[in-house]
Amino acid sequence: MYLKKMKIVGFKSFADKTKIEFDQGITAVVGPNGSGKSNIVEALRWVLGEQSAKALRGGKMPDVIFAGTEKRRALNYAEVMAYFDNSDQYLQGQDEQEEVVVTRRLYRNGDSEFLLNGRKCRLRDIHDLFTDTGLGRDSLSIISQGRIESVFNSKPEERRAIFEEAAGVLKYKNRRNETQSKLAATQDNLDRLEDIIYELN
Ligand code: ATP
Repeated sequence: MYLKKMKIVGFKSFADKTKIEFDQGITAVVGPNGSGKSNIVEALRWVLGEQSAKALRGGKMPDVIFAGTEKRRALNYAEVMAYFDNSDQYLQGQDEQEEVVVTRRLYRNGDSEFLLNGRKCRLRDIHDLFTDTGLGRDSLSIISQGRIESVFNSKPEERRAIFEEAAGVLKYKNRRNETQSKLAATQDNLDRLEDIIYELN
């Protein structure tokens, strides 16, 4: 699996529809300060489900939409599409598709949507697809400026979470937590039921 292409429109400095193709191997993006290099990486994080506007250097999520310049009006929506080569079937549950396309759209009024291979889906579906693939929400595939320092300065339990993501056990840990809260909710219901039965007797 590898990222082979991105299409960006209306995201940060990308007012025009922009297509970026990545060959296999190393790609270096070069350009003057402020020309939008980091915005490409942020577009990738965003399409993969980043929920923190702060992590994208904004105050609120609509800040990622092209805000206009002196010569150009602001846009009303941002859209990023990421194309993954999946010929090795690394991304599972994709009906043996050779290519997996993830799309995220956000309108200025706050409406937003995710699409997986052109079909609307939930943010959770995107997270599930990429968790433990190395491209998950908290993965180390994308290392932003300052992150290395923060890893060194992190607490042992935070560092452990990094190893768990890398080792591929985070998905199971998350599911265990979900199941435990479902069990707790079911136990609450049972307790309530017992109270009612007791009262009826
Ligand atoms: P450096 O080399 O200094 O790290 P860079 O090439 O990584 O710079 P970015 O930080 O990706 O550049 O891009 C910054 C540019 O993006 C700035 O010119 C900023 O005005 C522009 N920008 C950010 N958000 C928006 C937005 N919502 N609308 C329009 N332009 C934006």
